[in-house]
Formats: sequence, structure tokens, C-alpha cells
Amino acid sequence: MSVRMLLFTLGTLVLGAQAAPAAAAERYYDANDFAYVRKIDAHVHLHGPSTLFMAQALRDNFRVLTINVDYPDFPPPAEQLKDAVSLREHYPGRVAFAGTFSVDGFPSAAWLEAAEASIENAREHGAVGIKIWKNIGMSLQDAPGHYVMLDDPHLEPVLALIESRHLVLLNHQAEPLNCWLPPERMTVRSDLEYFREHPQYYMYQHPEMPAHDAILAARDRALARHPHLKVDAVHLASLEWDVDKVADFLERFPDARVDVAARMVHLKYQAVQDRGRVRAFLVRYQDRILYGSDEAYGPGDADPQAVTEVHRDWLEDWRFLTGGATLHSPDFAAPFKGLQLPRSVVDKIYRTNAEALFPRAWAPALSLPRPAPVAAAGAH
Ligand SMILES: [Zn+2]
Repeated sequence: MSVRMLLFTLGTLVLGAQAAPAAAAERYYDANDFAYVRKIDAHVHLHGPSTLFMAQALRDNFRVLTINVDYPDFPPPAEQLKDAVSLREHYPGRVAFAGTFSVDGFPSAAWLEAAEASIENAREHGAVGIKIWKNIGMSLQDAPGHYVMLDDPHLEPVLALIESRHLVLLNHQAEPLNCWLPPERMTVRSDLEYFREHPQYYMYQHPEMPAHDAILAARDRALARHPHLKVDAVHLASLEWDVDKVADFLERFPDARVDVAARMVHLKYQAVQDRGRVRAFLVRYQDRILYGSDEAYGPGDADPQAVTEVHRDWLEDWRFLTGGATLHSPDFAAPFKGLQLPRSVVDKIYRTNAEALFPRAWAPALSLPRPAPVAAAGAH
């Protein structure tokens, strides 16, 4: 008998000896595994050298995708690109980035030329995706009172370029639905506080501005025109309030991916009422969901406390997804239980889905920063 045959036979014997049903064979991570399991945070915003942030990411075994955004509170896109390129060089195999373009001058020919040059330039410097932000749909106007939507014909060449270059479109259109709701109907405290402090972004008080569903309908029309465009609809595709709505989006766009960045709180909120439904959603779409935190970190965050908070946020998300303990959120009163996803699902959400969507992003792969104590389990 050959060695291979012997192993096959032994394997059959071992499998045959397992009387328990398959579900009982599921294995789970716990809080102690956090630092040892290789993970990717596919949605952060790093500016400047981010030394403390990256040291924490290495300690917590995270690789990251830093996403540039055409956002007035961030440095100009060209400066963001410089920072991202520098971070990628400083942390080979650890940092990947997505570029962006400015909407200044939209929709002039000069704007389009500059936007296309930004995309090509980012790609040549190693970008694996291009971010289109919520200013499309919510703030950019091409005539008084006329908001530019993602399906605007002037954006068509940009989407076509992203597609032809095999870059991933990371699109963030609209806001959490809470933004369109009266305060008493808002589900989570952080949204309530944010819109109280930023009334200019609080759509409930601006009925003259586009409705949530109108922005997403335009987004969907644009995506439908580009079935081969690789899409990461960040923030749970702005359908965060109901996992069934996210599922519907994923069914309608069978190649699209979503990330959970800054929307984990909405999954926790839904887990209060129906943990099983949230868990079933993550299990069903386990190949199409990316972990992301939306942590933003810049030169103004040199206080070590800032990375302590990043670490705490990462750990809280890990506890919710991997463990089954009763948890509490500062965002709402009711307790909820962790989802205790199987290791196989956790590994996809935390790493392999991002590796598949951005295949060259973190090459060359680096070894673990320290030996894994649970190496015998083999799942890391
Ligand atoms: Zn973000």
C-alpha cells in the first residue's frame, strides 16, 4: 500500500469514527485568539506616518487597506496619495491603499482629464481600488438644487476607466438611514449625536435634499450598467438598518462585496431583537463580506490613547463576531449576544475575502509577527 493510500485509509477511518453531526465539529475562536489570527482591516483612513497606529496593527496582527477620500476634512487627494504610497513602502505586505479623485470643476472636460489622470496615477503607484464618496448624491451639484448622482452620464467615463483597469470601486453613497429619520426614531446614539452636532448633514432637516432611496436607486442603476466592475459597497451598502436589505442588494449584484465599516453597531442593534437573523446573514454571505473598521488616524492623533481606542474597537468587533457572550454597546441600552461565527466564516470575513477581492494588495505576504500558540489547530 502506498503512503498516499495508507493516509487515505486512515483518514476514512478517522472520519468514520466521528459520530457527531458536522455542526458539532465547528470550531470557534475566542478573545485570546485575537492577536494570533491573521486579519485584514479593509477600511481605514491613515494620514501621515501613522507610526503608533501601524505598531498597534502589527501587534494585533492586522494588515490594512487605507482608503483615500475626496473629503474636505482630509488633506487634498494628492497629499493623501503621497501618504498612502509612503505607508505602503514603509510596511511592505502590510499596507495597501485605494486612491480617489477630486470633483473640483465637475463636469468640465478639464475635470474629467484630471480625474482620469488621478486614477491612472494612483494605479501606477500601486492603488488597488478607487473610492467614490458620498459627496456624489449628497453635496455635489451641477446646477442649483440639482444633485449629481452616481449614474450621472459625466461619471460614466470614470466608472468605465475603473472597470477597464480592474480596480475595485469602493463606493459610499448616502448615509445611515437614521440621517433621514426624526431623532425619536433613530436607532443608535452615535448617529443621534453626530447629526445633532452636524445639522448641515442631517437630511431629516433638509427635505429639499435627495432622499435616501433616490441616492441608492441611482447607485444601483450605475452598478447595473457595469456588471463587470468589481464593487465593494462599503458601510453595508448603506442598507445597514436591515440585513435583509443588504442580502437583497447582494442578490441583485451577484459579484458585489460589502464591508461592515462603521456599521457593526447596526448589526449589534439588530442582534438585540434577532441574533439568529444577523448570524444567518453573515453565514450565508460569508464569501462577500469584508471586515473594516473605518478607523481614521492622522498626524493629530499622536496621543498614545488614540491607538488604545483603535485596539479596543478592534477587540470589541472581534468579541461580537467570534464569541457568544452577552455584550453591551454605548449606543443603545439593550444587551445582545455575540454571534459566535465559526472559524471558517471568521477567516473569510477577516482575511480571505479581502485577499480575493484585492489579490495583489498585500503581496508579498509576511510571516506572523510571533508564533501562533494554537498552530496545531491549523486554521490560522
Ligand atoms: Zn471610511
